[in-house]
Amino acid sequence: MRIIFIGPPGVGKGTQSQKLVDYLHIPHISTGDMLREAIRNQTQIGIIAAKHMENGQLAPDPVVVQLVGERLDLEDCRNGCLLDGFPRTLGQAKSLDEFLHTHGKDLDLVLNLEVNQEELFKRLLSRSQIEGRDDDTPKTIRNRMDIYRNQTEPLLDYYDEMEVLRRVDGLGTPEEVFSRIKSIIDELEPAHSRS
Ligand code: AMP
Repeated sequence: MRIIFIGPPGVGKGTQSQKLVDYLHIPHISTGDMLREAIRNQTQIGIIAAKHMENGQLAPDPVVVQLVGERLDLEDCRNGCLLDGFPRTLGQAKSLDEFLHTHGKDLDLVLNLEVNQEELFKRLLSRSQIEGRDDDTPKTIRNRMDIYRNQTEPLLDYYDEMEVLRRVDGLGTPEEVFSRIKSIIDELEPAHSRS
């Protein structure tokens, strides 16, 4: 199965993604993790991305699209993958469509995880204290939320029109949220090969 996970920062995408890839045995492709690794290794992509990520801005589309394209070309993605944090702009979504089309692959599902704004802010602040992520300060959190509303949320209409979008309530324990996701997957599974 080829799945995209969309949700605002702090919604619990990371936790749910991990559960989902364990359940489906597919690779977890997190552009946030890939970019942080590129920054640690001071690659050319990392140097460009760092400038944008420091203040909560998005890395440029061509940079992220190249990174994901190279990853999707690897053998372990042949039968599916979970894209977490990508696409984040309409431009990225269109590039992904093109990539999948050229490679004769389909997109099976787009999951949208949502919780209310107040709960999100609370979760992000607590993550910043626990993980000490540089991009989790109150100012960058607000920035990232605005970017999500302006640049990523329009993707929901885009995927809704493609009839692949399913919305999931992100409130509750991680187990409660995952059981909602699992029922969507199990409902689709007869029509899609999990291998
Ligand atoms: P995340 O770990 O998904 O919250 O991503 C952390 C940061 O990495 C984001 O705030 C962006 O600066 C950058 N980033 C991750 N994914 C993308 C993407 N698809 N497009 C542009 N920037 C991204």
